Amino acid sequence: MATDIFETRESQVRSYCKNWPAVFEKSSGAYQFTEDGSRYLDFFSGAGALNYGHNHPELRDLVVDYVANDGVTHSLDMKTPAKRRFLETFERIILEPRNLDYKVMFPGPTGTNTVEAALKLARKVTGRQHILSFTNAFHGMTLGSLSVTGNSMKRRGAGIPLTNSSKIPYDDYFDGDIPDFIWLEKVLEDSGSGVDKPAAVIVETVQGEGGLNAARMEWLKGLSDLLRRHKILLIIDDVQAGCGRTGTFFSFEKAGITPDIVCVSKSISGYGLPMALTLFRPELDVWEGGEHNGTFRGNNLAFVTAARALELFWADDSFEKELAGKIDELREGLEQIAGHVKGATLRGRGFLSGICFPDPDTAGKVAAEAYKRNLLVETSGPEDEVVKVMPPLTIDSEDLQKGLKVIEDAVLAATGQMGEPSRVRPPH
Ligand SMILES: *Cc1c(COP(=O)(O)O)cnc(C)c1O
Repeated sequence: MATDIFETRESQVRSYCKNWPAVFEKSSGAYQFTEDGSRYLDFFSGAGALNYGHNHPELRDLVVDYVANDGVTHSLDMKTPAKRRFLETFERIILEPRNLDYKVMFPGPTGTNTVEAALKLARKVTGRQHILSFTNAFHGMTLGSLSVTGNSMKRRGAGIPLTNSSKIPYDDYFDGDIPDFIWLEKVLEDSGSGVDKPAAVIVETVQGEGGLNAARMEWLKGLSDLLRRHKILLIIDDVQAGCGRTGTFFSFEKAGITPDIVCVSKSISGYGLPMALTLFRPELDVWEGGEHNGTFRGNNLAFVTAARALELFWADDSFEKELAGKIDELREGLEQIAGHVKGATLRGRGFLSGICFPDPDTAGKVAAEAYKRNLLVETSGPEDEVVKVMPPLTIDSEDLQKGLKVIEDAVLAATGQMGEPSRVRPPH
């Protein structure tokens, strides 16, 4: 089938499809199907936008019904029953049981939109300009988000200086040799340090793009306490690690902290539809009407699926408990696979885990070998040295094991220890 148009007409800027040239026509659960009839097991999950798999049947039927009944699709920030239902459900199932009293802002439909809104709000509330972010952070591709992102290739793409932010070392940046926060604590207390007091610190609990570094919960707690003492706002970017990806709805729950601002996107719609939230403490709600807006804040199809996804998966703790078992299974499997390569280590947390290889080229080769065996898995890290494994949270044990077996074979093939080739077989 023809694929020329993608090469001749579409910009060079595309990336995933260069490694995965298949034309995907249909998808269901943990699988994607190409137009020429092969089947791929998806351990990529739309970079975390498909936590409940592709086309969950109940969510799909809701979309079909909503459209068939002429439900409002686009509403800016006007009131609709779909938005009411989402807000009520989010309050009841997510906020209240976690004792979180957050205002909900719809900042526009993407992850970078919620990060931009968070940075803007932090600056407005504090009257300060500087933002601190972490080594290897990724927060999105618009200028504000890029200014707090680490990756040098992505930063260069801005084409202008990225200012009003500095980078500080993430947890374990110095391999545990240097006690945490010593630098930050010292410069904040030293009026001669020359470091401007920041409006906020923005952090990912697990660095999804930056190599699956996972901050310890006590580190997050320490950071939160330090910032509170200095009246600096804590922004958690939960765009990728949130919505259950690391085992709890918000990735910071086990740290026992209440961030001032939380950025949510990727899987919040539950269906891969564009949607984002910026959550903040009510005292921070100093916006003037229209001071921040966006044409696509009211994506009602996303409101419909988001509300139902919360009911389906988060109304009680059964999904979370089941997920905990699958996380153990995944982590054990990856640990075992890492054992095939000297110096390879397990990274990440929950269903945002992976393997870091001592030779950075290995990870890309493993992903390519996995693709040959009909498994989608991507790489992460400053040198793409980590194979990043993100199955849907809804995957069953059989498919999880099937994927792990392919990763094992791919690792053996990529490192010249050739195992028996195993493919994800097409359905009969
Ligand atoms: C994906 C991501 C973003 C950006 O989201 P987009 O929808 O691509 O703009 C921001 N922060 C984190 C942690 C992400 O993983």
